[in-house]
Amino acid sequence: MLPDFVASQVDLTPYNTLALPARAEFLARIQSVEQLAALIRHPEFSGRRRFVLGGGSNLLVAGDFSGFVLHMSIPGKRRIGEDATHIYLAAAAGENWSDFVAWTLASGWPGLENLSGIPGTAGAAPIQNIGAYGAEVGDFLQQLTALDLARGETLVFDVRDCALGYRDSLFKREGWHLSGRYAITEVVFRLPKNWRARATYGEVAARLAQDGITNPTPAQLAQVITALRAQKIPDPRQLPNAGSFFQNPKVSAELAAALQHAHPRLPCYPQSDGSVKLAAAWLVEHAGWKGRNLGPVGMYEQQALVLVNRGGASCRDVQNLSRAVREAVFARFGVSLVPEPVILADSGDAGNTSLSL
Ligand code: NAP
Repeated sequence: MLPDFVASQVDLTPYNTLALPARAEFLARIQSVEQLAALIRHPEFSGRRRFVLGGGSNLLVAGDFSGFVLHMSIPGKRRIGEDATHIYLAAAAGENWSDFVAWTLASGWPGLENLSGIPGTAGAAPIQNIGAYGAEVGDFLQQLTALDLARGETLVFDVRDCALGYRDSLFKREGWHLSGRYAITEVVFRLPKNWRARATYGEVAARLAQDGITNPTPAQLAQVITALRAQKIPDPRQLPNAGSFFQNPKVSAELAAALQHAHPRLPCYPQSDGSVKLAAAWLVEHAGWKGRNLGPVGMYEQQALVLVNRGGASCRDVQNLSRAVREAVFARFGVSLVPEPVILADSGDAGNTSLSL
């Protein structure tokens, strides 16, 4: 018999913020490392498909899943200590990221304020190296702990071993979140004591100037960023969505120059590797898709990068819209957009865009 924290035939609609319907054969609500360790020793677990789920905020549920969905709900956050330059904090994998950031600020440990309001869990944050408004998790990551679900071994990764990149990491590249081989159980952060405001992003600077703030405090930055996000990204409880649906594309300097010549208002951000980052939202909007619907899904009127489920959508509806938007952007700008969400699929192609988004 399976432990009582495992339920069978679970509706996944409440577990993905796009609210796409599907069933999981088993869903394990993991609230401690011990529970996880016990489950992976269970005879019914071995050889079964598994998927490690955090907040479900960057997830596209493609259909029913036969196997175990491991819903990482381990709670806990603590101050580990400090040295001359940094404060060290730990967050268990199931901590809500946004609440964790708010807790650090309320405790007088600034640093993470630009990452306020990002949905999802602390355990999932390093996988995509979440970031916003000029800061990313990798700037503050010290190490993380993971459990090898096949061998039962505990692994500790120093930040230097995580190969973090722009919304990317070793774990994402190796498909950790898809293979169900490892589960991150705890993340340790180091926050520098010599705090400096990061307010270089146009919208942030403009909002601060509008409010007459010249030297923002961490709390003021958090407030501005939370307000900006709320204005652009709908609350999934009211209008289901998975945040930014497409990645901001990086293109060659030559293509960026040609595009800017043809479209002088196209926002371009040169990168240290010589490529140029483009704003996907601008491309989607100027390909005619901002605020437009296709069936029960659409691109949000306040932020063209956010795909919203206006009610009763299926994965097929999302696929159709994603394809239509990608084709329109490619036809107009010659740029291929890449969808951001992870795909939960039963057919062995989880995470594979062969699902043709
Ligand atoms: P935005 O602020 O309209 O910016 C669009 C694009 O322009 C992004 O690629 C952003 O880079 C870039 N950009 C803007 N100002 C810049 C500057 N001063 N220097 C360098 N690059 C600049 O984007 P948005 O879609 O409304 O999102 C707001 C922020 O939330 C962005 O930072 C975005 O990356 C972040 N976000 C992150 C996630 C995630 O981690 N999964 C999901 C949604 C949104 P960056 O992307 O490097 O910031």
